[in-house]
Amino acid sequence: MKNNVTRFTCNGCGTCCKERLIPLTLQEAEEWLNRGGNIAVILEAFDTSVFPLPEHYAHSVQRAVAVVSGDARIQVIAIFAGNALTQCPSLGEDNHCRIYEDRPLVCRIYPMEINPFLTVRPEEKVCPPEVWEAGEVLCSDRIVDPVLEDQIQRSRQADRDDAKAKVLVCAAMGMSVAAWKGNALAVYLADRAQLRQAISLVRAGVDVPANVSWKVRVDDADLHTRLHGAGVELDLRAQTEYIFHSI
Ligand code: SF4
Ligand code: SF4
Repeated sequence: MKNNVTRFTCNGCGTCCKERLIPLTLQEAEEWLNRGGNIAVILEAFDTSVFPLPEHYAHSVQRAVAVVSGDARIQVIAIFAGNALTQCPSLGEDNHCRIYEDRPLVCRIYPMEINPFLTVRPEEKVCPPEVWEAGEVLCSDRIVDPVLEDQIQRSRQADRDDAKAKVLVCAAMGMSVAAWKGNALAVYLADRAQLRQAISLVRAGVDVPANVSWKVRVDDADLHTRLHGAGVELDLRAQTEYIFHSI
């Protein structure tokens, strides 16, 4: 970055399509499943009334859903992410996207940030160094490409519009333990058929168990004590159906 101008030209290396989870809108998640892909569901919880969050979490607050946990009300975000932990199933052997015209919004936006409170930092991206040295201006003090700006706005709006439906899908599937935001991740490797069915039920407006008491999993003793004191129900099981990953 020079004079706050970031230049970038994608070289098509395909690195951003490998060894990662690809956040999806609800519709994109359905399309991903319909193509035979698998989805990981990441559940995050927080409570801004008791635990203030840094400013850059403001985007998260807008895409969260209020739920009951024990004697408390907390906010939960369900992130549906395409499983590309080896590589994206739509990535061809030539490293080209085989669904390029239909690829998810986040694939169109990368390496830009969706969170309006984050600035793109080349050193945090998987793109090789040379792609940042020339080419079109990606951004300066604002995003200069109106198409990219529109895609980012649509992605943010979808995060907000899909929030409740995604949380309902999780409740319908019994995925109701979230990790505390900033402390850990709770990741469910969702069964494809069950997830497709749950999304269909929620889409159709069929009643799903919305009165679930959510639980929170943390690995920090002080945080555990604070959440317990606030009445939040904690998950204490040794064996769980989700992957718990401390940050
Ligand atoms: S959908 Fe296409 S662009 Fe997106 S991760 Fe898969 S191969 Fe890459
Ligand atoms: S890692 Fe960067 S340069 Fe490589 S394909 Fe993805 S966006 Fe393009």
